[in-house]
Amino acid sequence: MKQTIIRTGLETLYFSGLHHVMRPLFGGVGAILTLHHVRPARPDAFQPNHLLEVTPEFFDQLLRRLKSAAIDVISLDEMYARFLSGAFRQRFVCITFDDGYKDLIRFAYPLLKQHAMPFALYIPTSFPDRLGELWWVALEAAIAQNSRVRTTIDGEERVLECATVAEKQAAYDRIYRHLRGMATEDELRRVVRDLAARHDVDMAAFCRDLCMDWQEINDLAADPLVTIGAHTVNHNMLKKMPDAAAVRAEMEMSRAVLEAALGQKPQHLAYPVGDPTSAGPREFRIAAELGFKTAVTTRPGVLFKEHRDHLMALPRISVNGDFQRQRYIDVLLSGAATAMWNGFRRVNAA
Ligand SMILES: [Zn+2]
Repeated sequence: MKQTIIRTGLETLYFSGLHHVMRPLFGGVGAILTLHHVRPARPDAFQPNHLLEVTPEFFDQLLRRLKSAAIDVISLDEMYARFLSGAFRQRFVCITFDDGYKDLIRFAYPLLKQHAMPFALYIPTSFPDRLGELWWVALEAAIAQNSRVRTTIDGEERVLECATVAEKQAAYDRIYRHLRGMATEDELRRVVRDLAARHDVDMAAFCRDLCMDWQEINDLAADPLVTIGAHTVNHNMLKKMPDAAAVRAEMEMSRAVLEAALGQKPQHLAYPVGDPTSAGPREFRIAAELGFKTAVTTRPGVLFKEHRDHLMALPRISVNGDFQRQRYIDVLLSGAATAMWNGFRRVNAA
């Protein structure tokens, strides 16, 4: 439903040409793009996490579009420098990948290399340590592999039918909504671990199969095009952690682990999940205290020069697998769509 509204909104903006009219008002000085997986399309009809992946063909088109639009593709350090100096004559884009998935090496890196475009990876250190829990993938697998799943919702044992694709989608949405509404991430992890155990889903395998190992991260980090950023240790929704000291430890430890592994201290941070339920003023303050140069959310938006005063709460544009059409990218980069979502506020750091 929400996706349909977004798509309709993007189509409306595109076909009316309104995004060109609005661009001087809302186009901002640049944008940070969020990507997760870049890999060929899979045939499965049930793909609730599809929004987290784009095809190599689309990614290639995106890079070509940035090039032809004469938008500077710059590193996070260069973005930081431009915010400090106010050098905004040329619009810029930073390309960022969250979580460090292996498919980047095969499908995205060669294209970025070919165009000599810098990019950043935000690594949750438990992923290369092979202790990470990709709970959203485990949930997808449990439902994909079964015709019914058993789980506990609001203290009650429930059986959800998921024989058809429609039922699977409904079951996923139901459980996902329930999980995201939980007060703490510990609770969420317990429910997913339990679901995985009951339905023979090997959670550890996802980390091993999908995420880069330390050698792969090290190889990439040696390329001057690549910036490695912190993304906490355990990929928790930080705002849901009751203890501020634990939030601080998540950020600080991940930076220390990355520094030990790569020999360079990360200067940039991404909050896991990164929406307003996962990162708020407390997290922004802690990131600032720890001395990060920038920290990114997943709140949608382009960058304005005013973000200089909100470098711990930067918005990003999600390059979303559900919107793999070049014209959507044009609208998103114009800032018109995200300005509408944000009620025409330029900065949203509350
Ligand atoms: Zn992440």
